Amino acid sequence: MTKYIFVTGGVSSSLGKGIFAASLAKLLQDRGFEVTIQKFDPYLNIDPGTLNPYEHGECYVTEDGAETDLDLGHYERFLNINTSQANNVTTGRIYQSVLDKERQGAFLGKTVQVIPHITDEIKRRFTLLNETKRYDFIITELGGTVGDIESLPYIEAVRQFIWDKGKENAIVCHLTLLPYLSAAKELKTKPTQHSVKLLLENGIQPDVLICRTEKEIPRDLKQKIALFCNVSENAVIQAIDKESIYDVPLDMLKEQIDLVVLDKLKIKSKQEPKLEKWKRFLSNLKNAKKEVNIAVVGKYVELQDAYKSIYESFIHAGAAKGIKVKVDSIHSKTINESNASEILAKYDGILVAPGFGERAIIGKIETIKYCRTQNVPFLGICLGMQMAVIEFARNVANLEDAHSFEMNKKTKYPVIHLMEQQKNITQKGGTMRLGAYDCSIDKNSLAFKLYKTNMISERHRHRYEFNNEYLELLTSKGLKATGINPENHLVEIVELENHPFFIGAQFHPELKSTPENPHPLFKGLVEAAWNRKNSN
Ligand code: GLN
Repeated sequence: MTKYIFVTGGVSSSLGKGIFAASLAKLLQDRGFEVTIQKFDPYLNIDPGTLNPYEHGECYVTEDGAETDLDLGHYERFLNINTSQANNVTTGRIYQSVLDKERQGAFLGKTVQVIPHITDEIKRRFTLLNETKRYDFIITELGGTVGDIESLPYIEAVRQFIWDKGKENAIVCHLTLLPYLSAAKELKTKPTQHSVKLLLENGIQPDVLICRTEKEIPRDLKQKIALFCNVSENAVIQAIDKESIYDVPLDMLKEQIDLVVLDKLKIKSKQEPKLEKWKRFLSNLKNAKKEVNIAVVGKYVELQDAYKSIYESFIHAGAAKGIKVKVDSIHSKTINESNASEILAKYDGILVAPGFGERAIIGKIETIKYCRTQNVPFLGICLGMQMAVIEFARNVANLEDAHSFEMNKKTKYPVIHLMEQQKNITQKGGTMRLGAYDCSIDKNSLAFKLYKTNMISERHRHRYEFNNEYLELLTSKGLKATGINPENHLVEIVELENHPFFIGAQFHPELKSTPENPHPLFKGLVEAAWNRKNSN
């Protein structure tokens, strides 16, 4: 029988519910259980695909082409599993299903209400993942903070669900914050007590409390929290601030959260978690002796979460290569023709980020020109690849003002144009070319050397593509299309001849990199950056 673990948050947002959920899942997975995680988000957008990165960070794309919350990236990176559309549910999607049914007359004349109709739909979705595969554990992370108006139907659905399934089949892990008051030199438990009280008001007694803290929690304080919040002492778990999110599973192992959970859910474990590969990754990460400086040039640099998967991919690749990767984010609006070489001189490798729209595009093009002419290792992702094609068309193939149709509808040389299948699309949400597609790789290419195979599959999120009318011309000038979609001949990878490392990818390699499976393109860039640094 599947066991259900709900992860809620109180006191404050950004306590790391996603990382906690992924860490707990990791421990259970390492004990030999089948585990998956899903995220329920309380906003009304059908999915985060239409959200600006400033609003909600990166939009994470799954194999099946769902545009999802970035926490799904953590789930995949920690567990090495593929998630799907079913792993991310929003209030918008819940209402959409209920309202669609209402229009079909499925409610037989009844008044349609939040309770029971919305809560029933939430409960139905709690178990939905079990329809495709049988899991031992389904962990459900509830977005938002307990006490928010929009979280209420979820909390009520969890209460009913536990009542239906029984306490030994469904539990609640609640994350809270223990603020440290430096004047009093004390950790404070009152906010935690209040947030548990809020849950109790809604009929939920949390089973485990995960207390975020910047200081060690003394034993007597744990006892106090246990007593006042009505949980067992071993279920008060310390989650101390960490240098790296990848330390968290080991900390949770030390706190024996897995044992607490197994005990509450009355399950015997097949084996102890060893986390061997994980520990090896961490040790490589921490003992890296070499160092490189990488610039990520994009326009959402102010927000750490906007390029989450890219930053994580550098960590994975660095650990694999024994190289500490120091990443600086640079806003492309600060870069122009006259200052590019000055700003970028200190970097051993450069990544030009994905993105949309005209704003700050020139800085990206100038960055790429600098990489091309100065032999600096370069990886361009999606828009970064498209800009590499434009830079080459303008400055090498002499196609003056060549551009992407996205930025300039009147350009004489639309070297990047709208995909045929996109031409009649007017709706925004979920309509890009999304998810995994095959790409066949030319054997005489850098990509082949890195991937070590001639057929790959990578994830996508774009509307525009390389315009094949310019393929012959650009190839003849030295920009090689080394990765092609075998079905529709769409150019997926471009490379430069006579350059130590210059790759543009129409897809998003960052979405498939994990600590235990670092991505070949990122490993390649980090290594090339080191080679450049070393030879200088
Ligand atoms: N704006 C470009 C397109 O839609 C690139 C998208 C991206 O970088 N994800 O094709």
